[in-house]
Amino acid sequence: MDAEPIKKKLHRYYDMIAGGVCLVRQSAEEQILFVNKEMLKLYQCKTEQEFYQLTKGRFAGLMEADDYMPLEARMNSRHGEAAEGYAFLAFRCYTKEGVYLHVERTFQNGTVPGFGKVWMLNLVNKERSMAVSDLDPVTGLLNMHAFYQRVEKKIDAQRAKRQPDETGMLYCPVYLNLTNFKVYNETHGLYEGDRMLRKIGQMLKSKFPSSYITRLSGDNFALFVPRQGLEIKIRDLCQAVNNEIHLPNITMKAGIGSFDEEAGTRRRAITAYFDQAKLACDSIKKDATRFAAFYHDSMRRSMADRIFILDNLDRAIEQGHIQVYYQPVIRTMTGKLCGCEALARWIDPVKGTISPASFIPVLEESRLISRLDRYVIEKVAQLLRYQLENNLPMVPISVNLSRYDFILMDPLAFVEHIVEQYHIPRYYLRIEVTESVLVKNRHLLIDKLQQFHQSGYQVWLDDFGSAYSSLNVLQNYEFDELKIDQGLLRYFNEDSRKIIRSIVLMAKEMGIHVLAEGAETKEHVDFLRSIGCEKIQGYYYGRPMPYELLREHCKKKGWLLETLSEEQACDSAGLVNLITDAPVAIFQYREDDAQIISANDAYQKVLATSGTSSREEFNENMRTASYPMREKFMTLLASAAHSVREEHMTFV
Ligand code: C2E
Ligand code: CA
Ligand code: CA
Repeated sequence: MDAEPIKKKLHRYYDMIAGGVCLVRQSAEEQILFVNKEMLKLYQCKTEQEFYQLTKGRFAGLMEADDYMPLEARMNSRHGEAAEGYAFLAFRCYTKEGVYLHVERTFQNGTVPGFGKVWMLNLVNKERSMAVSDLDPVTGLLNMHAFYQRVEKKIDAQRAKRQPDETGMLYCPVYLNLTNFKVYNETHGLYEGDRMLRKIGQMLKSKFPSSYITRLSGDNFALFVPRQGLEIKIRDLCQAVNNEIHLPNITMKAGIGSFDEEAGTRRRAITAYFDQAKLACDSIKKDATRFAAFYHDSMRRSMADRIFILDNLDRAIEQGHIQVYYQPVIRTMTGKLCGCEALARWIDPVKGTISPASFIPVLEESRLISRLDRYVIEKVAQLLRYQLENNLPMVPISVNLSRYDFILMDPLAFVEHIVEQYHIPRYYLRIEVTESVLVKNRHLLIDKLQQFHQSGYQVWLDDFGSAYSSLNVLQNYEFDELKIDQGLLRYFNEDSRKIIRSIVLMAKEMGIHVLAEGAETKEHVDFLRSIGCEKIQGYYYGRPMPYELLREHCKKKGWLLETLSEEQACDSAGLVNLITDAPVAIFQYREDDAQIISANDAYQKVLATSGTSSREEFNENMRTASYPMREKFMTLLASAAHSVREEHMTFV
């Protein structure tokens, strides 16, 4: 049925109802199908078109990202008081004019002829339905709504007087962020986390007595404070907070915006000034040497990039500007290609290449990442199908799932759907997640990973060793493989080598395979091989590249592709611990030949005492029938081989 006549009918009915009404399709996309006039008013939109632009036509677009939860999940987790198929709904949002609102009421299950099953939302501005306290219950600071209201009044007063302040002071917006504060909550518990936030609230109040202060969400604060002497005060504050928290990874960072609006310029939404302060703060998130940054125009450019990414994602996918590149992974023991990682590349015809480091965080923050990940998974499935149909040699391909995928969709259901659609053995698709997947709703997500596992997919932990809480992660979930973060090889010194060595050792003890990322030099590769790291991925072997180029690259390098049975054999041999003072070596043993695949330092010393200077020399000797030790060695190996388990037979 045509949507327009249905909408007309719906308007006749719903435009008479008090409050905003919004019909949302009951599907993973949660597409908005209809809104009544009151809903447009609530969001300060003049036309439906404006409303759909503002919300991107999705339920998720109605609210602040932090408040989003799929409607189905909300319905399932509703508390007992509501009737069946009926639940409470509340969230925060910005209207088209940038006004900050708390919106609330209910939503329910329904069917609309022509639209099918829908969620029917009925929403009102919370301020109208009840008065709220002006204070944040955790910190006792102003809540965000009261804060913005007061700052707005202050700005109005300043404008009216055409001078900064009665005292002659100019105020400016500041955004504060505690990086990695989640770690504090994890280490000390939520109660202590709240206590610390309260304490920080008090510190802010005493440092900035005549200012407006709020906690925006979680661990973010906003201030509207006198500009004079600000840097020194902020520096002192950050130091005091860091001392109080006393954990090296958690730091207070500040972004300082400007408020130097000329009288008569177009009035901007008050939140825009704080967005600028946040941009400034974000720009130094990863810079350990800085605690504060001022907003400047180049940051606006990054805002423009952000808008470009959000506006063009769909078009880029449709027109093939987003491509999937493949980076080779090499098995240390055999030198064969044992897999590759699928990585997204955005190559815009005008802007050129946009790095994943720019677009992935934007897509994650705006909760659009699952659209990209679904696209990448489908492209990988199409490639695997193509290889199967053309009898081309294949290796498993790993794909990246973002933690938001687990909130925004059911990744397993999607992957299963694709695997069935393209008839692909599950063996060929590996799932990479970072530990951030396990930060929120830990138990729910552990279950979901377990389900991937039970359905026959290997689940890998990406970027291991990059964050503070890495070790805890392994207690809760048994991953099939760890990918050691490339950051550890970047600073290649005795300390980082120690860390890598102990990760490899621990993984082997736990029966988890290890892959090291970011190997760029022969020195890296030799070190990784000597400690028994099983797989290596990095520029030393090849950058991510289109599939056709990867095929040529393999040919040029003379790499063979690992087969399924080779993988199984390597997997069991790979768990042997080489990091020990006892001499240990792994041999590839066939009836008439034996070759050392890996040998630790102690074994190399044993070789040296028998007059052989290297693994390569030993292997060469074993190939020479006249080598005097050969017969003796083969007999020894044969008896050793018979004494080990079946699956170790190929590589002993
Ligand atoms: P990642 O999953 O850790 O991917 C590995 C990154 O390391 C890739 O960066 C790769 O190009 C880079 N890399 C590999 N070897 C070396 C090396 O030897 N030296 C250096 N300096 N870098 C190396 P890329 O492709 O820029 O991707 C960055 C991140 O963006 C990825 O990190 C991943 O977290 C994310 N990403 C990329 N594609 C996707 C995707 O399709 N979905 C999701 N959710 N995330 C993706
Ligand atoms: Ca990855
Ligand atoms: Ca990684």
